Amino acid sequence: MTPTITAVPCLRDNYAYLVHDGDTAWVVDPSESAPVIAALARLGLRAAGVLATHHHVDHTGGIEGLIAHFGTMPVAAHALDRGRVPAQSLFIDAPADRFIAADLTIAGCQVLAAHIPGHTRAAIAWYLVGADDAAGSGDAEGDVFTGDTLFAAGCGRLFEGTPAQMHSSLQLLCGLPVATRLWFGHEYTAANLRFAAAVEPGHTPIAVRAEHLASCTTPTTVALERATNPFVRARDAIELGERRAAKDTF
Ligand code: ZN
Ligand code: FE
Repeated sequence: MTPTITAVPCLRDNYAYLVHDGDTAWVVDPSESAPVIAALARLGLRAAGVLATHHHVDHTGGIEGLIAHFGTMPVAAHALDRGRVPAQSLFIDAPADRFIAADLTIAGCQVLAAHIPGHTRAAIAWYLVGADDAAGSGDAEGDVFTGDTLFAAGCGRLFEGTPAQMHSSLQLLCGLPVATRLWFGHEYTAANLRFAAAVEPGHTPIAVRAEHLASCTTPTTVALERATNPFVRARDAIELGERRAAKDTF
């Protein structure tokens, strides 16, 4: 079964996400509480819990406001983010080489998690696997929340990680089935594609993607990122590091 996911624009260019579960929703990366509470109210939903991709305040700043409004709720993040995510109550010790069960079920979907260091040292990806996928029949696409590790046609800055860690994290994400939807933390896609075009000027899929860009580009897919993301397409960690350094001053 495919969960219903609503993107909620927050701050300047952030996305929080609502994963609908009956008359409640789990909130991914509540940057601030007001727009999230308004979106929940509009949809007739209550917040049931929080999934945080990493500790940065533009992904966690709304947690305390949600708790003040709806009452206490589980707040999940990587175990390594202990002490950095407000009200964290679930400490998921996910490994960096594969997805493991996080012992959570949302909207009938099993939640898996993997450690994806690079942007921060405790970044975690949340993967909602359809019931069909969990049974191995592979019908459902699956949805992954990538935070600031993978953006559409880009990746996050290396604040607490190395090029090698970011390279491994992106390869793990883009090793998922090609139709997997990837929901990311910031709407940076237009600028990312300008950089991607400068890196690979003759590569048609980048130009095609830039030509047909909506104002809201989330989610992307594994297939699209493999075709257009210069950091996913880097041949190794060294090339990724060179491209990341070039992007910082682009
Ligand atoms: Zn961040
Ligand atoms: Fe961010």
